[in-house]
Amino acid sequence: MSVATKEESGKTILNDLYEATGVSVSRCYQCGKCTASCPLADEMDYTPSHILRLFQLGLDDYEDTILGAYSIWVCLNCETCYARCPQEVDIPRMMDFLRAESVRRKKVNPRAKDILSFYKTFLDSIHYTGRLYEVGLIAAYKARSFHLLQDVLMAPRLFFLGKLKLFPHLIRNRKSLSRIFKKSFSKRQEAVK
Ligand code: SF4
Ligand code: SF4
Repeated sequence: MSVATKEESGKTILNDLYEATGVSVSRCYQCGKCTASCPLADEMDYTPSHILRLFQLGLDDYEDTILGAYSIWVCLNCETCYARCPQEVDIPRMMDFLRAESVRRKKVNPRAKDILSFYKTFLDSIHYTGRLYEVGLIAAYKARSFHLLQDVLMAPRLFFLGKLKLFPHLIRNRKSLSRIFKKSFSKRQEAVK
């Protein structure tokens, strides 16, 4: 199949995917089990097996199509597809890679803008406090997404129920956490060089 040749040839997203994750799209024989078991398939523009097929065919502009897909942001990384795949194609890992690559190459689907804002805000919270700090998360998400009034009436109720703490609970060794973030970021940069 032409896929093997592509993986061994010039620098493409297919090479990057293989080098960064070990996922080989040529293993997929299009049985469709991943798509049939994906709880979010109906919400996707390209189903998991469809994305693999786009990789395999390698038609013109397949990179832009894949990196601009809404699907990669809808995926929950629930791993159902991976558990069901007879060929053990690690789709969740592939989706992780594609999200990072989509951001790096500025190809994020406009419909996924809010999801991306949430991702960034969530990671910032973990990075700086070591835990999920809900008040900070909500404030930062609203500032990023401009959904300033969305669900705002729920805040007082959640506060009185004790679900929202005004101040973050900081973990002790945040420097180590910062090192993990730094390391994974530079590893990622190396993987796509
Ligand atoms: S379940 Fe595995 S082999 Fe079947 S289509 Fe999905 S990725 Fe390909
Ligand atoms: S990991 Fe993503 S693609 Fe796979 S079944 Fe879950 S939501 Fe669907």
